[in-house]
Amino acid sequence: VAANGAATRPNFVVNSPNVVYSDADIRSKYTYRTTMVTDGENGTRVVTPRETVYDFKVDTKVPKLGVMLVGLGGNNGTTVTAGIIANRRGLVWDTRNGRQAANYYGSVVMGSTLKLGTDTKTLEDVNIPFHDVLPMVHPNDLVIGGWDISGMNLADAMDRAKVLEPTLKSLVRKELAAMVPLPSIYYPDFIAANQEDRADNLIPGSKACLAHVEQIRKDIRDFKAANNLDKIIVQWTANTERFSDIIAGVNDTADNLLKAIETGHEEVSPSTVFAVACILEGAPFINGSPQNTFVPGAIDLAEKHGAFIGGDDFKSGQTKMKSALVDFLINAGIKLTSIASYNHLGNNDGKNLSSHRQFRSKEISKSNVVDDMVAANNVLYAKDEHPDHVVVIKYIPAVGDSKRAMDEYSGEIFLGGHQTISITNVCEDSLLASPLIIDLVVIAELMTRIQWKLHSDGTAQGAKDYKSFHSVLSVLSYMLKAPLTPPGTPVINALAKQRAALANIFRACVGLEPESDMTLEHKLF
Ligand code: NAD
Repeated sequence: VAANGAATRPNFVVNSPNVVYSDADIRSKYTYRTTMVTDGENGTRVVTPRETVYDFKVDTKVPKLGVMLVGLGGNNGTTVTAGIIANRRGLVWDTRNGRQAANYYGSVVMGSTLKLGTDTKTLEDVNIPFHDVLPMVHPNDLVIGGWDISGMNLADAMDRAKVLEPTLKSLVRKELAAMVPLPSIYYPDFIAANQEDRADNLIPGSKACLAHVEQIRKDIRDFKAANNLDKIIVQWTANTERFSDIIAGVNDTADNLLKAIETGHEEVSPSTVFAVACILEGAPFINGSPQNTFVPGAIDLAEKHGAFIGGDDFKSGQTKMKSALVDFLINAGIKLTSIASYNHLGNNDGKNLSSHRQFRSKEISKSNVVDDMVAANNVLYAKDEHPDHVVVIKYIPAVGDSKRAMDEYSGEIFLGGHQTISITNVCEDSLLASPLIIDLVVIAELMTRIQWKLHSDGTAQGAKDYKSFHSVLSVLSYMLKAPLTPPGTPVINALAKQRAALANIFRACVGLEPESDMTLEHKLF
């Protein structure tokens, strides 16, 4: 992909009877192979390979896409907006280290590759940009808008964020100055009291109500019409809210939640009101913050409407490292015994998180991220045994957006030996989060164009009609710290597994097997 974003879409054709191309779509017949285990006699296990044959269909028309951010005027909102404009215009600017060109580093979709296969002649890997495996929206083409409780235009908000180089800011200032966030809903109890002084751009009313839902739906429709868009994706990148209590009769079912909004119940958060509005409007909604926006009633509502939701909490720095490192340690047979994680940051997110109830949301979101890896290793860990794991976050204004994450991992090695790994990670938080916002939008949009059904070969039971993936897009897990999964299904935190799921689902859509990394072609000759 060129720096200015002009897509170089390689034209690959899968040469297989299982893949059919038409002007409108790509259809593949895909055999999904799993392994089922049952208890046999005398403590043995019976392991049975199982095959399920699916038909996948990908609508290949790439839509004109709008992304509406809740929290548009924040550090992430302004950084991702400026970054997309910089890429779209192919900007190059001076820095103290020399000339810097716009890029999409840190985005899986735009910055990483996927092995397509092996070159017949050289037997070398052929890799393509991740973005090119299926027809995806190019981030340069995104039309950006959204809401903020602060009415500052985006140029001033970009200054307030203190993230970007002055030279880059001067090149995008004019465009950003013309962008002013739409008024938003503000229920003061949900975010830190220290945020009150920026709340000057408000839709009247300080608790949930149907009028708020309707106003947000109207904003989405108006933005779509004004920019002639085919689809909108909405993402919450606003302040972290406190958790909502889950109360029977209030937010436990779709109907109760709608009733609770109507009656202005105090446990309905702004983010849940946004989620409900998006679900009713059919706009996919992704939660980039840690709070429990998706109360059971919101998930129920999404399922009833076949609307897409994803969350929670962008996985940008410390947790991403953790979900890679812990996967490595435990799969290497090293018994991880403790993780002590300290963070300090000085941006507005840090200021909001300095309030206890908002910190608590973050603490919960950061806490369970190694559970699946620990539970999977029944050699090292007894049932219910866990490493000690503590997360601390402090607000230190002087470091601004340049977040520090310091982690100490301790583990037991051979014969009672110990290993301690200390990691310090310093980088601009918003420069890590912005590419994730882009990935979430591009992938969520693609998921709205993928459909499946059980294959029918005339004898086996197939399904007549195609349907969509489940409302809860767990395929977005790679980008999210506390991945939301369909009710009753396991959460996968291990980073490599999350990426493999994403890549292999896309491969299946073009009739390709998962990349097994066996490379027998280099071993058996
Ligand atoms: P920020 O404080 O700079 O921006 C948040 C914006 O949301 C502010 O402009 C604020 O005015 C606005 N806002 C608050 N309540 C609102 C509402 N009800 N409606 C509309 N706007 C509202 O924070 P940020 O650094 O951009 O981070 C945004 C969120 O993303 C935070 O919750 C943070 O925890 C989460 N997050 C960030 C990262 C990262 O930056 N690396 C990683 C994971 C999660």
